[in-house]
Amino acid sequence: MDKLIYFDYAATAPVRPEAAEAMTDALGRFGNPSSRYGYGREAARRVKEDRETVAEAFGCAPAELYFTSCGTESDNWAIRRGVELNRRRGKHIVTTAVEHAAVLETCRDLERQGYEVTCLKPDREGRISVEQVAAALRPDTALVSMMLVNNETGAVLPVADCVKAVKAYDPAILFHCDGVQGFLKTPQPLGRLGADLVAVSGHKIGAPKGIGALYIKKGVRLRPLLTGGGQEDGLRSGTEATAQIAAFAAAVRANLRDPDRLERAAAMKAYTLSKLKEAVPKLEVISAGDAPHICAVTLPGYKSEVVVRVLGDRGVCISSGSACHRGKPSHVFAAMGLPRPWLDGALRLSFSPESTAEEADALVSALKDAADSLLTTLS
Ligand code: PLP
Repeated sequence: MDKLIYFDYAATAPVRPEAAEAMTDALGRFGNPSSRYGYGREAARRVKEDRETVAEAFGCAPAELYFTSCGTESDNWAIRRGVELNRRRGKHIVTTAVEHAAVLETCRDLERQGYEVTCLKPDREGRISVEQVAAALRPDTALVSMMLVNNETGAVLPVADCVKAVKAYDPAILFHCDGVQGFLKTPQPLGRLGADLVAVSGHKIGAPKGIGALYIKKGVRLRPLLTGGGQEDGLRSGTEATAQIAAFAAAVRANLRDPDRLERAAAMKAYTLSKLKEAVPKLEVISAGDAPHICAVTLPGYKSEVVVRVLGDRGVCISSGSACHRGKPSHVFAAMGLPRPWLDGALRLSFSPESTAEEADALVSALKDAADSLLTTLS
């Protein structure tokens, strides 16, 4: 296959060279951070420094940041242990219909265990309002879970204002935010959102897969996710993944050394959308996305799975929605009330600061060819 033309950065991003280098270095230093001799203490010192790096970028104290294996684990920990912590308040959870499966499936599982879930519907742009969240609160609400950046539309949800509304209603209600697509992709550090719990993931920012983190605000006493040797302050036992942690911190540093990265990704998205509108008149924009790196478009009446496969055969990687859908229509676009032909043809494009105009032109030409050659249910 020719050069890969990659526009699926919301699914995962390439490992940054700095992260790969840090990981290789850490793999060579195999000491266990719990060992008492110098070689182990050195590993512990490095994990401490890496935690400080990630925490600083996040905007929290290092003691509030717990390493996990991925965003899904962080979401699960936050929601399951969050409702448990607040069980005396009641069994009501508020979330949104546009959340990632890591949140929605967790809520569904809790529903099967007797919890009641209010799932807020977005508007046609994929947005949820503060008023909707405020109106859903009840005396038995234990937890609210709301994402910051939607992984399919790029919509930025008003998390900080929703936290204020929830805390004004009752400060005891826990607020969890899935910040996986927002970490280092929005100007505001996630630690300033005011949420009690925030999940992030390394592989969206240039770290390898297999590392994430959960922010737990000081004073929020979640029970441990994993019991054992007492790592992560006793809350998530298991020998620290020193190499992944080193790579996570290195990826964070590399992002921070590139202050124009959000503007460059946004500029490339705007360029691609304008070229697409010109070259493929049938294409409609579902959401231009508030976040710099994600937008959603549709070829109404086409089968997005087929379009994705045909483009893939040309080395052009895009997605028909979240990588986790595995062929099912996107629950996010469905919740937005899009007409059936729009749902069928929905595509997610996601960008990196390194995306080039040449790659964008190749994407536009591949989509134009697909629109010209494939059959639609409308024709
Ligand atoms: N939340 C959102 C919004 C995501 O986009 C993803 C991954 O696509 C996740 C959670 C899950 O993160 P991970 O792949 O690290 O488990």
